[in-house]
Amino acid sequence: MKITARTLSGEICDVQVEGHFFKKISSRKGDILDLPWIAPGLIDIQINGFGGIDFNRPLESDEAWHYATKQLYAHGCTGFLLTLITNEEDKYGRFLAELTGRINLDPRNCLGFHLEGPWLNPDPAYRGAHNPEWMKKPSLRQLQEWQAITGPLLKLITLAPEVDLEAAVEVIRAGVKKGIKFFIGHSAAMGSILQKAVAAGASGWTHLGNAAPATMPKFENVILHALAQPDLMASLIPDGLHLPPHAFRVLARLLNQANPSRLLLTTDAMAGAAADEGRAYTLGEVQVKIGADGSARLPATDGSGEGRLAGSTLTPFQGVFLAERMAGIYLEDAWKAFSTRPAALLNFQHGLVEGNSADFCLLSPTKTPYLLATYHRGKCVYEAP
Ligand SMILES: [Zn+2]
Repeated sequence: MKITARTLSGEICDVQVEGHFFKKISSRKGDILDLPWIAPGLIDIQINGFGGIDFNRPLESDEAWHYATKQLYAHGCTGFLLTLITNEEDKYGRFLAELTGRINLDPRNCLGFHLEGPWLNPDPAYRGAHNPEWMKKPSLRQLQEWQAITGPLLKLITLAPEVDLEAAVEVIRAGVKKGIKFFIGHSAAMGSILQKAVAAGASGWTHLGNAAPATMPKFENVILHALAQPDLMASLIPDGLHLPPHAFRVLARLLNQANPSRLLLTTDAMAGAAADEGRAYTLGEVQVKIGADGSARLPATDGSGEGRLAGSTLTPFQGVFLAERMAGIYLEDAWKAFSTRPAALLNFQHGLVEGNSADFCLLSPTKTPYLLATYHRGKCVYEAP
């Protein structure tokens, strides 16, 4: 198969795909109008559910798995980390085992697990939509149990090191040796605690700016402390709700300006993403209401009429364009933060390079691009109707 297309940096290329891989990519001169754009498949490191399917509940059928993964392809995503949130210990183990079996048998675009919880900070200001009753201190024993279940599918763990710093450092050191990445999140870690977690090997902060107190001291707060760590990456959710546009703009531009860039984009999508509007969905044990603005919220408990955010209904393809617009950064930079950078984090070769797996998106050459097709391992897995 040979495709002539334009990369996001404007270069015209002949792209030859053979079997699962890019065989040859050669740039060519000229100015051919109406060529589609070609870009690496989007990689989302935090997907709790999609297309009406909740990954934090037992999957009802093979069809549910096929449908959710197909919907991710239909939104440009050729790789994602299935994310489990805090749950009862027994249930958590069962889900991990069931999903590991499924992914090993039929991985589709799933790259493995992101475990967000149960090693989080139970303080109401930091816990977000997670149930504090099931939160735990990090433990090496637990890490080994999870690894025994998942094998190499365990890719990323979000934790709050301040809950038990000594144990967190031990777990991070041991996990990093096995190729697991650690992000800090739902956490109050600052100063020397944060420093120690980073020194042990923590490499990012999960959805920076969220799962943080509504009001914070002007200098001693987790956002500034995370930004001040020179090598710490951070994921941001570009839905305009988790971070209001001005906050997204400041954080995304700052992270993106670092050399190398520290910006990662993720949807943190839950079942309500790419699903029917006006319905209620679940995120594990909790009911989540989808608002007219697309927000996914827990029922309100404090009389304010607005519950906590519980994931998003954003899709990866929407997210990359919203990020470009809100941050005022190049589309190419936003796309990298949602494709090749998360891939590099997960230690796999990705992007328009000869020999890489042919995982890419074709976009329409229109003013507002839409997704024409998604290819995974050289095969067309989505085509616009
Ligand atoms: Zn979270």
